[in-house]
Amino acid sequence: AEAFNAAAAASAPLNAYCALTPEKALEMADAADARLAAGDAPALCGIPLGIKDLFCTLGVQSQAASGILENFIPPYESTVTTKLWEQGAVMLGKLNMDEFAMGSSNETSVYGPAISPWRRAGANTALTPGGSSGGSAAAVSASICMAATGTDTGGSIRQPAAFTGIVGLKPTYGRCSRWGVVAFASSLDQAGPMTKTVRDAAIMLGAMAGHDPKDSTSADMPVPDFEAALTGDIRGKRIGIPREYRVEGMSEEIDRLWREGAEKLRDAGAEIVDISLPHTKYALPAYYIIAPAEASSNLARYDGVRYGHRAKLAPGDGILDLYEKSRAEGFGREVQRRVMIGAYVLSSGFYDAYYLKAQKVRTLIKRDFETVFADGVDAILTPATPSAAFGIGEMADADPVQMYLNDVFTVTVNLAGLPGISVPAGLDSAGLPLGLQLIGKPWGEAELITVAG
Ligand code: GLN
Repeated sequence: AEAFNAAAAASAPLNAYCALTPEKALEMADAADARLAAGDAPALCGIPLGIKDLFCTLGVQSQAASGILENFIPPYESTVTTKLWEQGAVMLGKLNMDEFAMGSSNETSVYGPAISPWRRAGANTALTPGGSSGGSAAAVSASICMAATGTDTGGSIRQPAAFTGIVGLKPTYGRCSRWGVVAFASSLDQAGPMTKTVRDAAIMLGAMAGHDPKDSTSADMPVPDFEAALTGDIRGKRIGIPREYRVEGMSEEIDRLWREGAEKLRDAGAEIVDISLPHTKYALPAYYIIAPAEASSNLARYDGVRYGHRAKLAPGDGILDLYEKSRAEGFGREVQRRVMIGAYVLSSGFYDAYYLKAQKVRTLIKRDFETVFADGVDAILTPATPSAAFGIGEMADADPVQMYLNDVFTVTVNLAGLPGISVPAGLDSAGLPLGLQLIGKPWGEAELITVAG
């Protein structure tokens, strides 16, 4: 109880948690003690975790940081969190995030932004921990939990991990069940671990992964011993450096850390090769068509009738007024923007020009990766983000496209369904962390962990 209170106090200024669950934590910690006393020590026994608010947790408010899910308390538990509890983990609470995981700065949350524990040297400007898993990143980075769950649709695990100097792993699409995870863009969403070390990510992924008959896109693939992949031996691995990722406006510091990262891998015996992923420049536009299209469809269920926020009606209002008013009041601006973009690109007059075209581009992006892997490349090294963390409000007030540009290095991986990991690369001249990303082959998380470790 004391440790819990200390964590809660430390967390408050960061706005990392949107709900704390002290009773649940104590109950789970007692259960973990009992298991240990009985000689049963599962992988995560007694490990305190924070859970992104996108995961439904039995009897605990789960709002996806949205007003539309006001007071929603799920009568069920997501598959991924069920697996974590089976391994003995302890829940501290629910973590702040961008509303419905739409954002790169945690500023679209109904709970207000999460704040990074990091500051620029000599300055006191509050910085974003990134998003959408911003609460997860802030909490892990500030040691308010040992590790956290995140979800990644276009970079929401890897970008906040990079901004806060931690490790974030987005698994292959289908590796972790999406059952009980509030849907954003179903063909892109994946849950994954956010941790301090690659070893922790390996252990936690082992607990989260596995086939689930309740999610038809979850793959029936064996879950390897990811921790055993930390051999430290990367001799002979071919690491690709994609020339298209050297984008305009990227800071010299990121470029330098990227080169240093490649040199480190070479010194450890890997072979560094230049590669080309020619369709990279079309990834962001394709993502910002496909993700809103799927979101507009997924979010159609929030109608003010079945659960969550219901608007007060005026005399004479009908069912359409109920839908319109509830959705207008419940959804924030960014979510409304995406629902409108999605409905537009799916509408009969524009479907071929936008949605269908974006799907074709997606296939080309996937083929780019298939080609380099078929040429013998084992993993691809890129920066995780084009810049270090920015200040709260610095980007949110700008053109939304500026915010979308943050995802330039991460969205390709979701479009192709591949695993990617962001690892701390060092600090910039202002003392802020920067991350490097490694991209692996489908189901190649173990190999990725070997190289990242
Ligand atoms: N920043 C991206 C977006 O806003 C990615 C979000 C995510 O991965 N959930 O869509």
